Amino acid sequence: MGIHPYDVEQYDEEVLEQYIKHPKCIAVGECGLDYFRLPENEEEKIAYKKKQKEVFISQIQFAKKVNKPLIVHIRDASNDSRQILEEYQAKEVGGVLHCYNASEHLLPLANHGFYFGIGGVLTFKNAKKLVEVLPKIPKNKLIIETDAPYLTPHPHRGKRNEPYYTVFVADKMAELLDMSRVQIEELTTTNAIRLFKEFSSIS
Ligand SMILES: [Zn+2]
Repeated sequence: MGIHPYDVEQYDEEVLEQYIKHPKCIAVGECGLDYFRLPENEEEKIAYKKKQKEVFISQIQFAKKVNKPLIVHIRDASNDSRQILEEYQAKEVGGVLHCYNASEHLLPLANHGFYFGIGGVLTFKNAKKLVEVLPKIPKNKLIIETDAPYLTPHPHRGKRNEPYYTVFVADKMAELLDMSRVQIEELTTTNAIRLFKEFSSIS
């Protein structure tokens, strides 16, 4: 349960309080920062970024209060995101950097309880950066994700994404890390259960 950076105007902690009680709510997110589409007007731009930061910080504090990990969305905002996660002690709950964008600047967050969500982008022909960064991510911090319905892995790119396509991400990861698909499956499942502690009790 969380408010995406595009929806910050709708942020209301009471709503979060209400939904987080559901037994299937095992994390707080997506929350984070997204500077991909900013207003052109300088003042509006500053105000928009400020609002995104406030709502992100509130959700970090909320996650700590309810003791659940964070699902963090970061786009074109690596510096501010890392600074906020460190300053507000997000490591108390940890989380996942979802659709990790291969920014080397975010790698130190591995030491702050953060995992790196690898999705369909890894299989794209233009994924050079992520392919290079992948081996630098500590193995115990790797998880696989879908971002469904988006970012469908090759060779199904363009179709609606589904969780069963994650097998293509696992295969690509296995190839790049010189491991078998079974080893990747075991590794990323173990990591996911360690991060989302309530996972095993609902599945
Ligand atoms: Zn996202």
